[in-house]
Amino acid sequence: MINEIEQQVEKILTKYGIKNAPVSVKEIAKQHDISIAKAPSDKFSGLLFRKENGQAFIALNSDESPVRQRFTIAHELGHYFLHPNKSSFVDFRDNKKNILRGPKEVQANRFAAALLMPKKFLEKDVAALASEGLTEEHVGFLAQKYNVSEDAMTFRLMNLHLNPIT
Ligand SMILES: [Zn+2]
Repeated sequence: MINEIEQQVEKILTKYGIKNAPVSVKEIAKQHDISIAKAPSDKFSGLLFRKENGQAFIALNSDESPVRQRFTIAHELGHYFLHPNKSSFVDFRDNKKNILRGPKEVQANRFAAALLMPKKFLEKDVAALASEGLTEEHVGFLAQKYNVSEDAMTFRLMNLHLNPIT
């Protein structure tokens, strides 16, 4: 499944000619006629609604940081692309961290990480940055470049075996 997710993300990047970070997840949503709305909440990070006719709608928690909102869009796009068989699938992304409710949530998170931090982009950047390993400063630089949190970047680098040394 992980390789399938990486492959699906590569197809999307190729389709929209995305060659550099940061990846515009809003633009990808727009291309698929997915509208995005925001509302303050203490309960959710994101929601995805799908209508029977295929139209979709993402809601974001406007109280959360821009990088977190960006990750949420990517997460909901993950459900949109990976789990299309349920015609009226609705996702509720809880805002409590570290709660993962089953394989579809894990897959949506993997998709989000792959989309925001594409493997090929990162491998190239890491090779250019540090032939002898990454430092914490490198991770901070990369997080800014990809417009993601440092935690998300650290996790992605670990998953790709591009581990920081510190
Ligand atoms: Zn989800």
